[in-house]
Amino acid sequence: MAELDTYRHSVAHVMAQAVKRLFPEARLAIGPPIADGFYYDFELERPLTPEDLEAIEAEMRSIIAEDLPIERRVLPRAEAEEFFRRAGERYKLELIEELPEDEEVSCYTQGEFTDLCAGPHLARTGEIDPEAFKLLNVAGAYWRGDERREMLQRIYGTAFETKEQLEAHLERLEEAARRDHRRLGRELDLFSFSDEVGAGLVLWHPKGATVRMLIEDFWRRVHLQRGYDIVYSPHIARAGLWKTSGHLQWYRDSMYSGMNIDGVEYLVKPMNCPFHILMYKSRTRSYRELPLRWAELGTVYRYERSGVLHGLLRVRGFTQDDAHIFCRPDQLEAEIEGVIDLALFLLKSFGFDRFEMELSLSDPENMDKYAGDPERWREAEAVLEAILERRGETYKKAVGEAAFYGPKIDIKLFDALDRGWQGPTIQFDFNLPERFDLTYMGEDNLPHRPYMVHRTVLGAMERFLGNLIEHYGGAFPMWLAPVQVKVLPVTERNIAYAEKVQGRLREAGLRVEVDARDEKIGYKVRQAQLEKVPYMLVVGNREEQASTVAVRHRSQGDLGPRSLEDFLASVSEEARMPG
Ligand SMILES: [Zn+2]
Ligand SMILES: [Zn+2]
Repeated sequence: MAELDTYRHSVAHVMAQAVKRLFPEARLAIGPPIADGFYYDFELERPLTPEDLEAIEAEMRSIIAEDLPIERRVLPRAEAEEFFRRAGERYKLELIEELPEDEEVSCYTQGEFTDLCAGPHLARTGEIDPEAFKLLNVAGAYWRGDERREMLQRIYGTAFETKEQLEAHLERLEEAARRDHRRLGRELDLFSFSDEVGAGLVLWHPKGATVRMLIEDFWRRVHLQRGYDIVYSPHIARAGLWKTSGHLQWYRDSMYSGMNIDGVEYLVKPMNCPFHILMYKSRTRSYRELPLRWAELGTVYRYERSGVLHGLLRVRGFTQDDAHIFCRPDQLEAEIEGVIDLALFLLKSFGFDRFEMELSLSDPENMDKYAGDPERWREAEAVLEAILERRGETYKKAVGEAAFYGPKIDIKLFDALDRGWQGPTIQFDFNLPERFDLTYMGEDNLPHRPYMVHRTVLGAMERFLGNLIEHYGGAFPMWLAPVQVKVLPVTERNIAYAEKVQGRLREAGLRVEVDARDEKIGYKVRQAQLEKVPYMLVVGNREEQASTVAVRHRSQGDLGPRSLEDFLASVSEEARMPG
């Protein structure tokens, strides 16, 4: 991978050189390799067009054909400054100014082009395969990611060592674009955003809301089956609560401004935790009633910069599938094991079957920077590690990566295109129980501190649904499909029969629509296909006389005529919620 990064970084330099040849007034910013490719940011006098990208690609091929040596030079700082000042490269100058006074400056030169760069690079431009790179698109990017600074143009490209690898990658990108949840959300009428509401705030249309409701119903059932209780909490609370919890001190930048109610400041919740803690504290707890597992589909609001908002994946208001577990030391192991089991069961039910886990631990050299008792940290970390080992999970151990308040396990899941998404987190907390002075009465009749664990499985309903739409490409499995069956009358005369079929299927619990429009049957079938409805039942005179339906499946095609009861029996299994 490091080699591929070097290769891609060299392609980025070749691109920058080509841009400077075609647009001598261009100013260079930065151009690193990234996952799947590279980019370079430029200040240019006009926006680049797709034709410009083609011209830049052609110029890059000439630079590769010139087979220029790529040479590293180390300059004294003053000399480097002088060089980039003369070249008018003010962004490079700004970067040099930030280097320590006495540090020398590393530059790479190929032909007439020199860039400020730490490297490493290929030895010659001719080592790049001229058929194995592609410039993909141009996007706006603020210098240093700071919206108060200059807006630059970022050219994204991708590069591989062979043409075949490039082509496979481009195909994957096309497939990803076809599955883009923003596009499918519009085409399938699942959700929308409105400027009048505000950025990052989702409007769930009936079909999207149906899918969400089904996921929530399934989620609740699985939690109840596994000994959780469901709780609800308010959307706002007095500022004092957020002061006690520490959110005002540590999290204020992500919280919205307060509102005044009867002269007291209230804030919208960014998290549900303090509410569950107050429920815990509403009376004395005995060791006998632990563990308590309290789950809430809790809607929270967090500030995100407008530039990072992205469909359902990055929003400002979202519903967490949150839960908090309060338990005794001797229950820790079973509780954590239970969370992992539940998480994997839920995710596998949605067809995810590849996971990666990461265990974030404290830095043993620096225990004073963590909240809570080091002995309890050791205990919690030992439990997390032992469970992952015993289960034989592949996981990465990240020493020193734990938050100051506790160690955690993150589970990443991989979708149908093998893209990784942030999944469940299991997070210990040694801070809030202290701040709120949580206790339970032990067998010894003395107060003890319970262990507290925060966990989400799906993360947020919004983001999870975004993932799920892309994972399924919008073709939800039967149990999740907002419309499971579409009845298509061939002519107007068959509408009454179609409605009778709909009535019977609805009675059996299926979600059914009738397409009664005055359109040709071929058109109705195509429409239902586009809507990715699992089953289409065509009903014409022949079906009506025989009391049958002509069954068509969205991917298997024509399945022939069936009696309604046969059809019902054949789909009842796949229409059932898993678990
Ligand atoms: Zn570079
Ligand atoms: Zn929490």
